[in-house]
Amino acid sequence: MSEIKLGIIGGGQLGSMLSNAAKKLNVKTIIYCDDKDAPAQNFCDEFIFSSYDNKEKITEFAKKTNVITYEFENIPYETLNEINKIKSVLPKPSVNRLIQHRLAEKDFVNKLNIRTTRYASIEKKSDLNTLEDFLPGILKTTTMGYDGKGQYPIKKIDQLEKLSIDFSKGYILEKLVKLKKEISVIITRFGNNNYQLYEPIENTHEDQILKYSKIPAQISKDIFNKANDWAISIAEELKYIGTLCVEFFIDRNENLYVNEIAPRVHNSGHLTINAYNVSQFENHIRAVCSLEKVPLNKLSNAKMVNLIGNQIIPFRENIKLKDNEFFFDYLKKEIKDKRKMGHITTLI
Ligand code: ADP
Ligand code: MG
Repeated sequence: MSEIKLGIIGGGQLGSMLSNAAKKLNVKTIIYCDDKDAPAQNFCDEFIFSSYDNKEKITEFAKKTNVITYEFENIPYETLNEINKIKSVLPKPSVNRLIQHRLAEKDFVNKLNIRTTRYASIEKKSDLNTLEDFLPGILKTTTMGYDGKGQYPIKKIDQLEKLSIDFSKGYILEKLVKLKKEISVIITRFGNNNYQLYEPIENTHEDQILKYSKIPAQISKDIFNKANDWAISIAEELKYIGTLCVEFFIDRNENLYVNEIAPRVHNSGHLTINAYNVSQFENHIRAVCSLEKVPLNKLSNAKMVNLIGNQIIPFRENIKLKDNEFFFDYLKKEIKDKRKMGHITTLI
């Protein structure tokens, strides 16, 4: 078979890790990104820097590839749809459109009889006045949020006066869940009832940013099974192709909720690189490039810690790692507060 050329939209750490996984499969990667310093250019075979509305460049990019995927969900639907007319985009653009909008995403999940947090749509400030029973809550922009960006914890209505929130954007108000634990399930779907599940991962956030992930998650058998079943239902209903992650909350009464869906590989799955024979990245590429599905084997328990901002510095300066420790530097040009700079996975 001739060599496959995979287009990837987005050039962050997920694009880098996808490119690395592609090497093993002899798939060439061409990355398109609107950041000229995108770290993934250090890992891919070809890098194209341009804006997401530059039709000419996008067409040029699409023509070079056999199939196209993306590493983050906040890509304009129009862009994905245009590309899809030239080369197939997987997961489908309609999946991305649904999931990138927090309200549409939650409506979709609830229709499957799967529990989410309680939520209400907020279009103008006065909408909040009638929503006392959603407090304490978190006000979130309906689109474009990640790593806690665009989120405002609200305890009392009068707090809003002090916050200068731009109500020209759409918002969702979510009731705060009294969290016992957060977990995620990563699934790679190849076709109808044809998927592979990674075991649930336990996640700890600091300042709404993922800090630690580990397997096995300390959860009941019941939660373990339910989380897997819900992830399967979601992937099947979306007719999803590729790797998808479902983030869950578990409250103090052992109720499970879907928090959100990521239509892509996910930070909590970085430990699959070392803990499984096939990582979430390799599986994503296998699925979107119609390559063979190989039996998935867990090799070890593992924990991962994200290196945020200047936490990366000592590791760059040659901290000695043990044989069971794996350090990843995303090679981002600038260290910034709250920016994910790298991670360490430890097999345990
Ligand atoms: P992002 O798109 O930034 O990942 P999330 O909705 O996943 O946004 O929120 C980030 C984190 O903030 C969650 O993983 C959780 O720790 C906390 N959080 C968000 N919404 C709620 C909620 N309704 N109840 C409790 N914690 C929440
Ligand atoms: Mg999240």
